[in-house]
Amino acid sequence: MQILQNISLKPFNTFGMDVYADYYAPITRPEELATITVDASLPAKRFVLGGGSNVLLTHNLHGVVLHNKIKGIEKVKENADHVWVTVGAGEVWHDFVMYAIANYWAGIENLALIPGTVGAAPIQNIGAYGVEVKEVIDCVTGWHWEMKQLLPFYNSECAFGYRDSIFKHQLKDKVFITSVTFRLNKKPNYNTSYGAIEQELQKMGINEPSIAAIADAVIAIRSSKLPNPREIGNAGSFFKNPTILVEQYNTLKETFPTIPSYPVSEENVKVPAGWLIEQCGWKGFRAGDAGVHEKQALVLVNYGHATGGAVWDLSDNILKTVHDKFHIELEREVQVW
Ligand code: FAD
Ligand code: NAP
Repeated sequence: MQILQNISLKPFNTFGMDVYADYYAPITRPEELATITVDASLPAKRFVLGGGSNVLLTHNLHGVVLHNKIKGIEKVKENADHVWVTVGAGEVWHDFVMYAIANYWAGIENLALIPGTVGAAPIQNIGAYGVEVKEVIDCVTGWHWEMKQLLPFYNSECAFGYRDSIFKHQLKDKVFITSVTFRLNKKPNYNTSYGAIEQELQKMGINEPSIAAIADAVIAIRSSKLPNPREIGNAGSFFKNPTILVEQYNTLKETFPTIPSYPVSEENVKVPAGWLIEQCGWKGFRAGDAGVHEKQALVLVNYGHATGGAVWDLSDNILKTVHDKFHIELEREVQVW
């Protein structure tokens, strides 16, 4: 196993923040984690990094960055309806989506083109276009730093919620996810309820959907709306969409008649954070190299040489203005280091 010192993380985070790690180790096999656990020459503070597409790096990291490179895709079981596939946590998420589609395994086609690794997918229960990854996760396997062993965490134990899981709370910093076992469908159950997908399929002249066509539609929509991190630094949605009480929503609607909402339960609705931020005048805002994307106000961007601190300050100002105008507390989705 290679352990390097004083390494720039700029190539390894999609915001493109140029911070340094005291120590850096690419992890290619789960067994290497046992070695790291007992290596007294390494600092105790560990940072687990996947594709770096959901982190904001605000300062140099005094500790060891463990860069997940564990590969492999294996079909482990199947029956008439389902196939179980165990995937190394360092596989690129979108590559796995394409692999599943090539094998006619359904369930993750709506999640095409989400950046990052398979191992990070359960952490925030990645979701897009009406689908969340929790729907197809059977089991997450991870190295528990304190128990010093690989442990399985079955779906029901992962406390999956909206962009949330146990790995952000009780198990935060306690587990290095090494693989994820998915239960995919042999018989597709198409989810085209998200308006933009139907429209895109029509535009593509497709009347009979297939999992490949849905992925193509999602890829086309995403490519037209979202900034490509290779061109402009960003980490996708910076904030979560807030869930508020229906009563609060009805009160807000008196002052802001066009405020959108999506039902969550009888008591709650989800309000698009991008709309709230846009109403506060932030869309397209730029201060130096830190800014708010001109097409999607939920995405904060680094035009070149912004620091993590500058993006953090911008996010703080956005939080304040949204709170002042709507009395809604936004929550950051991006993990801040
Ligand atoms: P990283 O950014 O490397 O890490 C994120 C967090 O997970 C960190 O706290 C890290 O310590 C932890 N972590 C990572 N890997 C492991 C592991 N193996 N074990 C333990 N902890 C780990 N997200 C969505 O949900 N839906 C979207 O549609 C979406 N679209 C996006 C579009 C763009 C353009 C971008 C830049 C981001 C988008 N995201 C989206 C956010 C992001 O892609 C996901 O959160 C993704 O799962 C992050 O994966 P990663 O490997 O890059 O994680
Ligand atoms: P959009 O289609 O412009 O919609 C704005 C918001 O309204 C979305 O965040 C979405 O919530 C909600 N919404 C829209 N139609 C909905 C429906 N039919 N049912 C329920 N909720 C609906 O959003 P966008 O920014 O282009 O993103 C499209 C999808 O990709 C969304 O699912 C979004 O979450 C996902 N995405 C996520 C990230 C990230 O970093 N997390 C980045 C880019 C895109 P939901 O977010 O709950 O779906």
